[in-house]
Amino acid sequence: MNTLAQLNFDNTFARLPEHFYSRVHPMPLPHPYLVSFNNEATDLIDLNSAEAQREDFVEYFSGNRLLPGSSPLAMLYAGHQFGHFVPQLGDGRAILLGEIKNKAGEYWDVQLKGAGITPYSRRGDGRAVLRSSIREYLCSEAMHGLGIPTTRSLCVVGSDARVYRETTETAAVLTRLSPSHVRFGSFEVFYYRRQYTQISALADYVIARHFPEVTNAADQYLQFLNTVITRTAKLMAQWQAVGFAHGVMNTDNMSILGLTFDYGPFGFMESYNPKYVCNHSDESGRYAFDQQPEIGYWNLSALAETLTPLIPEADLQYALGNYSTIFNDTYITLMNQKLGLAQNNQDFSLAWSLLKLMRTSQVDYTNFFRALSNFNAAPDEQNDQLRDQFIDREAFDRWANEYRQHLKNETASSQARSTQMNKINPKYVLRNYLAQVAIEKAQQDRDFSEIDILLKLLRKPFDEQPDMAKYAAPAPDWAQHIEVSCSS
Ligand code: AMP
Ligand code: MG
Repeated sequence: MNTLAQLNFDNTFARLPEHFYSRVHPMPLPHPYLVSFNNEATDLIDLNSAEAQREDFVEYFSGNRLLPGSSPLAMLYAGHQFGHFVPQLGDGRAILLGEIKNKAGEYWDVQLKGAGITPYSRRGDGRAVLRSSIREYLCSEAMHGLGIPTTRSLCVVGSDARVYRETTETAAVLTRLSPSHVRFGSFEVFYYRRQYTQISALADYVIARHFPEVTNAADQYLQFLNTVITRTAKLMAQWQAVGFAHGVMNTDNMSILGLTFDYGPFGFMESYNPKYVCNHSDESGRYAFDQQPEIGYWNLSALAETLTPLIPEADLQYALGNYSTIFNDTYITLMNQKLGLAQNNQDFSLAWSLLKLMRTSQVDYTNFFRALSNFNAAPDEQNDQLRDQFIDREAFDRWANEYRQHLKNETASSQARSTQMNKINPKYVLRNYLAQVAIEKAQQDRDFSEIDILLKLLRKPFDEQPDMAKYAAPAPDWAQHIEVSCSS
């Protein structure tokens, strides 16, 4: 394990032509202090976690001092924002220091989010607020705990420097780790400019680094696109199954690696509602929960269009045509796993009828599925703990009967089924109010203890953790109306 000075930086992105980025320098952040440090992410970059004790640790992760070997830059990209094309975006506040190659040979980008103004800041101040940094920090680690592909977080460093949003807040820098920060929008910017050689240069770079299995194939670009489509379709299915809404599924927030990326106004659905919109700024509900799979496809179509100089049109269309099958297969499999059905392969009817009932009764999505592992299939058993969550109890009884019939086909014992279900139905998710409590303590008293509690809890969302049971409770009354917007 390395000290900060020994980190094994490489800067492959910085060796691409200058069209792809602007070299920048982080803007000093006055009096930085450590908010939270994720001692489990250090392994990704072979960093000795004791290094977090160093007095100058926060100097490096605020951008006040440069890590040796890094070569800071802001990446260029464009994107479709809420359906409208914006020809130039780029990192307006995030600065890529470079990649660290770890012992296992993996590359991890180290990026400081909120580290100051870049040529792409437009009218922004280059900063991120403490609130949104804590949210991304916690949620990316929570998603990792849930087994959902995501970027990771190393630490949050705060400062009393003021930042103006709807109210005055304070600045923070999140250190984000990801195998790549290339987005769909990274391709779109060159397509819009008709710089087709840059498109192939970027595709070659991404393929060489992340899709080595397709290099040298005659149709390598098509195979690359196929992989992005598959990963994105599977990611959308995982989000749906766990009840996660991203909130800003613009193409500049879509990872070329199919990772959950750029956490803003995300939300975990509490009571089941397919029309759930987690982003208060999304007035038309473009990114409503039930729209996400379709938006995933829309975004992939935008990416595919940028590859028309490299892939025959008919192949592109064929590749896109696979999306819905991959999404549906994955989603149905996951929902049946949530129901504990191994023998029900492609039948969605049981899950569908349950979701309809849950919607009418506004049943807590996470808690219902978790409790379902206790379902007693004996014919005279009412399963009151589940049944009482529904307004129409007879409708639940009818569903429970159907469920019993399906369970008869299962070969596993009920004990084994229950254990298996608890590995896919989490007990704990990052409900908005949990994050809010941690944020308010941090903002008001510089008390960061709740962040660390949540970080630890959400690393193991499938474990009972009996002394933490209160964190599985649905939002209390005071938190029913927390609004999360694009402001960050
Ligand atoms: P986001 O909604 O965070 O994905 O950001 C969309 C675009 O706005 C990206 O190009 C960001 O870099 C940029 N941006 C967001 N907030 C700021 C800010 N405070 N200062 C500069 N640029 C920003
Ligand atoms: Mg973004």
